[in-house]
Amino acid sequence: MATFFISDLHLRADRPATNRILFDFLAGPARQARALYVLGDLFEYWAGDDDLADPFNREVCSHLARLSDAGVRLFFMAGNRDFLAGEGFAAATGATLLPDPTLATIEGRRALLMHGDTLCADDLAYQAYRRTVRDAAWQQAFLAKPLPERKNIIAGLRECSESAKRDKPADIMDANADAVAQALRCHGYPLLIHGHTHRPARHEHLVDGRRCQRWVLPDWHDSGGALLVTADAVQPIQVPVSRPFA
Ligand code: MN
Repeated sequence: MATFFISDLHLRADRPATNRILFDFLAGPARQARALYVLGDLFEYWAGDDDLADPFNREVCSHLARLSDAGVRLFFMAGNRDFLAGEGFAAATGATLLPDPTLATIEGRRALLMHGDTLCADDLAYQAYRRTVRDAAWQQAFLAKPLPERKNIIAGLRECSESAKRDKPADIMDANADAVAQALRCHGYPLLIHGHTHRPARHEHLVDGRRCQRWVLPDWHDSGGALLVTADAVQPIQVPVSRPFA
């Protein structure tokens, strides 16, 4: 059996090629898997579960629901773009919502799953912003605003975040080695899988004399990619899948 991991698709209605790659993946290779884990930033943004009525959101959710209806376990961990996806999203897709971080057993391996933004500890401005928007009272007040107003606020935030990113040194937007070591230490030195940085790679870390592996998932801007975990191997694969993987 196999388990897939994806993240950072940043889905939006005006990127139909990426959407098609995902829908074909969900109807094809993902059907052979035991489970699919989406580790955040599935959507470019998510304004609240009342936006499930939006035709594009509904389309994406129906493709995910078909996968979970077919018996493939679907797990969703929120990213910094779609952290407002909640029980309504879960009900519409059949997904189980996961907290960040989550320690899980994946095909017999202990694995720590994260979106990855909390590892970017050098980006103090971002971490302060994150604490604000992940606060329950802030979210309650935000979700009480009318949907169009929320979408306007999000559009403004995205613009700020894009211009801030251009001004930030690239290394502060990457995972901080101490934060990685701390996460591995706290959870008993498991395999670590995360996304967010859009720097797909396999890293080796020596933490307290223990050799640990960290896999960073790719984004889906030009093509798709996933991490495939089986009892025998952990391997990155391109999507569309060009050769049999099982
Ligand atoms: Mn992210």
